[in-house]
Amino acid sequence: MENSLSSRLQMAMRRITGRGKLNESDIDEMMREVRLSLLEADVNFKVVKQFTANVKEKAIGEKILKGLNPGQQVVKVVHDELKSIMGEEAVPLMFENTGITTFMTIGLQGSGKTTSIGKLGVYLRKNYKKKVMFIAADVYRPAAIEQLITIGKQIGIEVYDEGIKDARKIVKNGLEYAKKNGYEVVIIDTAGRLHIDEEMMQELVDVKKLANPTEILLTVDAMTGQDAAQIAKSFHDQLNATGAILTKLDGDTRGGAALSIREVSGIPIKFMSSGEKMDTFEPFHPERMASRILG
Ligand code: GDP
Repeated sequence: MENSLSSRLQMAMRRITGRGKLNESDIDEMMREVRLSLLEADVNFKVVKQFTANVKEKAIGEKILKGLNPGQQVVKVVHDELKSIMGEEAVPLMFENTGITTFMTIGLQGSGKTTSIGKLGVYLRKNYKKKVMFIAADVYRPAAIEQLITIGKQIGIEVYDEGIKDARKIVKNGLEYAKKNGYEVVIIDTAGRLHIDEEMMQELVDVKKLANPTEILLTVDAMTGQDAAQIAKSFHDQLNATGAILTKLDGDTRGGAALSIREVSGIPIKFMSSGEKMDTFEPFHPERMASRILG
């Protein structure tokens, strides 16, 4: 991912690393390049502005300009700031101490919601040894239910569905079924549309009330750049998502989504999904992502 962002930032950094002395205009020149790289990577402009202001303030500190290896210190400042806008620390998934843990997934159609449910199921079974069930409550698109059932079969995870249109009823019955059958984690697939609309949002609000989920996980398509952050904000404003799953990081993404979501929407990125195979799913670590971007 973000190949051009990585290579441009690396180039800007390379120019200053190893420099014994830096003056303010060296920093200004580097910051211009960093700013352009971020904007070109489709990072939200407010995030870019904040980022460059913070880096400049820290880099221009006396200590760095006169330090032993100012170039390397500035690179560290840039790295730390990248990490900081993505949320500093990885935010772990929450589980209930007793009873069923419920994860509600939300996201626009095509964002990778169904695929991510499958991946999360596999991840929970493998890493937490949990007995997982899915509830198919994306009732608007019959194909969505079929797709979840197909994924469930493929990975050996039971999918609860009722062949009815009432998402609220499916969720209620599905949770009872899960309880009776000793499931530990239930992942609910909910309505996805091409655009956010009131009816969908109301249904999601109702499902949230009914299921009282431990986590509300929003899938966002990294390919949509900073739009992903705006979409996340709209969902978050009404549903208080607890985490984002950033999808399609294997594609030709420019980095804008990863770098904007946290700052713009307030939702921590918890997972990244990077492929169509079920095992291409891992926790999101701001530190690792910053290192990956800077190379
Ligand atoms: P939904 O409509 O949100 O449920 O999205 P789907 O899970 O059906 O995904 C939409 C398309 O994106 C499908 O063709 C998936 O195979 C694909 N997809 C999902 N996640 C990823 C990913 O991480 N990487 C890539 N390359 N494709 C993905």
